[in-house]
Amino acid sequence: MIDFARNLSDIEVRVLNRLYEDSRTPVAKLAEELGLSRSTVSRVIDSLVRRGVISRFTVEVNYTGGFRVFARFQNRPEMLESYELLDGTYLSVFRASSLMDLKRVFESVGRPIEYMVAVQAYRPKVASPIPFICDKCGKQILEQPYIYKRGRRTYYACCTTCLEALKQMLDKKRGV
Ligand SMILES: [Zn+2]
Repeated sequence: MIDFARNLSDIEVRVLNRLYEDSRTPVAKLAEELGLSRSTVSRVIDSLVRRGVISRFTVEVNYTGGFRVFARFQNRPEMLESYELLDGTYLSVFRASSLMDLKRVFESVGRPIEYMVAVQAYRPKVASPIPFICDKCGKQILEQPYIYKRGRRTYYACCTTCLEALKQMLDKKRGV
């Protein structure tokens, strides 16, 4: 696990850190924040996916545009436009702005027999946080690491005590 983390390039670690903080960050935003081109970020993500570092894909909904729902009901749903199908069930096609919105619709009209949501975009999701290693004590960091940026390097600490010790250590090195 440790070797695995160390084998990642600086750019890969930076991209992963951002995805770890928020897996829904769009490529364009990642590129801007990291000072990289979009094609570089895409290439890095593709490579991480190929190597299994990012292993799970999840369907993300484009919330700004909402999404289309196809739902089949046993009884004609009030408040929704519906079509009676040959088997006597009813099909409604409508838009929902979010999954919460969809939940509210089903709460008011009743649960459908089945439903399908048409989504618009795929985004990678980080399956599990890469095992960060505390730069002070060398322990594997299981929770969100404390991140400390110094010059071009990024340091990780497991706790605030290690973080402070790390800062002091680096100050000493620089002779401050
Ligand atoms: Zn530590």
